[in-house]
Amino acid sequence: NVSVILFTSDLRLHDHPPLRAALASSDEVVPLFVRDDGIEAAGFAAPNRRAFLADCLADLDAGLRRRGGRLVVRHGDVVDQVCRVATEAGAGSVHMAAGVSRYARRREERLRAALESTGRRLTVHDAVTTALPPGAVTPAAADHFAVFTPYFRHWSRHRLRDVMGAPRAVRVPDGIASGELPARRDIPGVSPGLAAGGETAARRRLTAWLRSGITRYAEAHDDLAADATSRLSAALHFGALSPVEVVHRARGVAGPGAEAFVRQLAWRDFHHQVLAARPETSTADYRPRNDRWRTGHHADADIAAWREGRTGYPVIDAAMRQLRHEGWMHNRARLLTASFLTKTLYVDWRAGARHFLDLLVDGDIADNQLNWQWVAGTGTDTRPNRVLNPVAQARRHDPHGAYVRRWVPELAALGDGPGVHEPWRLRGSGRAARGYPDPVVDPADGPARFRQARGLG
Ligand code: FAD
Repeated sequence: NVSVILFTSDLRLHDHPPLRAALASSDEVVPLFVRDDGIEAAGFAAPNRRAFLADCLADLDAGLRRRGGRLVVRHGDVVDQVCRVATEAGAGSVHMAAGVSRYARRREERLRAALESTGRRLTVHDAVTTALPPGAVTPAAADHFAVFTPYFRHWSRHRLRDVMGAPRAVRVPDGIASGELPARRDIPGVSPGLAAGGETAARRRLTAWLRSGITRYAEAHDDLAADATSRLSAALHFGALSPVEVVHRARGVAGPGAEAFVRQLAWRDFHHQVLAARPETSTADYRPRNDRWRTGHHADADIAAWREGRTGYPVIDAAMRQLRHEGWMHNRARLLTASFLTKTLYVDWRAGARHFLDLLVDGDIADNQLNWQWVAGTGTDTRPNRVLNPVAQARRHDPHGAYVRRWVPELAALGDGPGVHEPWRLRGSGRAARGYPDPVVDPADGPARFRQARGLG
């Protein structure tokens, strides 16, 4: 008998429950990936993620070939394509990972109905794309946790499933066309500094991180210039790494660095369980407020300056330029730029979230939308009106200005002094010669504007 494994956000061979289950119950399997028209039509297939995805698929195919199999690729409506391949292969069952977004849920329902109407079975596996499945821990009287700290307490005590090794051999039935793998070089508009994707590269990075990076994580993760975070987010988003395996292995390293790192992985699960319970929060406020976000051409001009990294606030501009160049941004920089857009410029979080999704290689509906909501104060932050002061934050997290000088060449020649974070304090001619813009909003009254707009006096 034959099973189909539909790969989605789980592009790996190690620790893969759907693959293991299919191999345990079938003589032959069809490892399938569908380039889904629905995702492309929704505008979610941004170049950086398409490029990373192409790397992941090529690596998955190579891994399967080393085990005697291969990846089968189709293009079109995901449900039609899975049914077609299942029919061609004579498969009685399909295995896949559970998803949390509205789109993933709907895909699952449609697929189940279509398969069952032809006498086939869909098995959906948990704890593939998150360490704990949504709903594994809940408060007494609710379907999800709305506050991270108690969630984390329960999450930490809950036992994770065991890690599964990669299969030794994979047999694919004859007569199923392989289809065409997308090639990274054919994708226009990719950020020049985008990292390579794929399970092999991700596993190498994880091992190096656990050996030498993680021990410094607790003290250095907020240092913008140090680049002292794991950079595993895209591999986790595409499932080139298993979150269960990453947590298990990180727990095997002692010390505050590993503890702080595991806590960040719990944030990932936290947002997934919020989105699973409240799928509408990908676009709607989690806690609706009476925000009348700025609109009109002044707001549009501010949004454009923010996107292009010319707000006149060096740390904000550095971060926005890093995003464009690498398709990735440091977490502290994401907090600062999101706070600046929503609480200093008072622009709707959805405009910022959209831009992030256009560029982030790890762009993820749960993590992006709910982090944006957290920063905007419409989400799960228990202090929704806090405003991050971009200058104070820059002095604290980029004390020598190294991050700014790396990404803002107009200011690269400035020394360690206050000018690098507050170029408006430099004197006239020196300042103009640098060609760096004046601040879009007076540094003195940004936060006050937000408080006033939100009716906080
Ligand atoms: P590390 O610091 O090494 O953390 C390890 C892992 O923990 C990350 O890879 C990630 O999977 C997870 N993680 C860390 N912080 C968070 C967090 N706050 N929320 C959820 N998971 C977290 N992360 C995404 O993966 N995709 C997104 O689209 C995304 N959008 C964001 C938007 C905003 C406005 C903000 C403030 C944060 C966003 N994050 C997002 C979370 C975080 O910034 C990134 O996960 C992190 O910067 C990735 O770098 P890293 O892998 O080196 O992280």
